Amino acid sequence: MQQRFRDVEENLKVVEANITAAAERSGRRREDITLLAATKTVPVEVVNHGIEAGIHCIGENRVQELTDKYDRYRRDLAEVQFIGHLQTNKVKYLIGKVSLIQSIDSEKLAQEVSRLSVRHHVTTNILLEVNIGREENKSGVLPENLESLLNKVSAMPNICVKGLMAIPPAGAPKEETFLYFTKMHQYFVDISTKTLDNVTMQFLSMGMSADYEMAIEAGANMVRVGSALFGPRAYPQK
Ligand SMILES: *Cc1c(COP(=O)(O)O)cnc(C)c1O
Repeated sequence: MQQRFRDVEENLKVVEANITAAAERSGRRREDITLLAATKTVPVEVVNHGIEAGIHCIGENRVQELTDKYDRYRRDLAEVQFIGHLQTNKVKYLIGKVSLIQSIDSEKLAQEVSRLSVRHHVTTNILLEVNIGREENKSGVLPENLESLLNKVSAMPNICVKGLMAIPPAGAPKEETFLYFTKMHQYFVDISTKTLDNVTMQFLSMGMSADYEMAIEAGANMVRVGSALFGPRAYPQK
C-alpha cells in the first residue's frame, strides 16, 4: 500500500503539471479547470491518500460501489460526484449524497431526480450527458435532442443543470476525438448564451486519462481522470 500511496502522489504531480500546461495553451489558468478523480475499483484508503495530497473532487460510476465507499471517504476535503450510467430505480441512492450527477440523459431520469429532490427538500445539480459519437448502446442524449431535453429539465423543480458531459468513442483517432471535443464545446457555448430557468453552464466535463490535455485545449473545464492517477484497474469496468 505504501508504494501505491507514493505512486498516487507522483501521478498527481504529473497530471497537475499537464493540466496547468494545457490550460495555459488554451489561454486559461489551472484554477479554471476542475480535476475529478475517477475512483472506480480504487480502494478507499488509496483515494483518501490522493485527497490528502490535493484531490478535491472524486467521481464514482457505480451506485453500489458509491454506497459501499461513501461514508469512508474524506468528504471534509473532497466532494463526491456520480459519473456513471444511471438507472431510474437507483436515483434514490444518490439524492442528498452527491454534489453533482454527471450522467443525466433522459427526461425520465431527470424527472426521477426532480421528484426525489422535492421529496427530500434538496436541489440536485446535474450535467446532461451527450452521446457525441452517436454510438449505439451508449449513454447520452443525441445532440439533436439536447435542446429539447434541456428545455424540459429547465421546467422541473429542485434540479439544476450545471453543464454538459461527454465520453467520445473509445479508441478513435486523435483528430476525430478532438473534433468531438470541439463540437461539445460549441454546444456548451451556444447554450451558455441562452437564458433558461435552472440552467447555468458552469462545467464542460470531458477528457479522461488518454486525452484530458486535448479536451482542455478544446475547451473542457472539468476532466475525469482515473488510471493516470491510480494506475491501471485490475478489472476493467465501463
Ligand atoms: C472510468 C471513468 C473515467 C476515467 O477513465 P480513465 O481512462 O481511467 O481515466 C472517466 N469518466 C467516466 C465516466 C469513467 O467511468
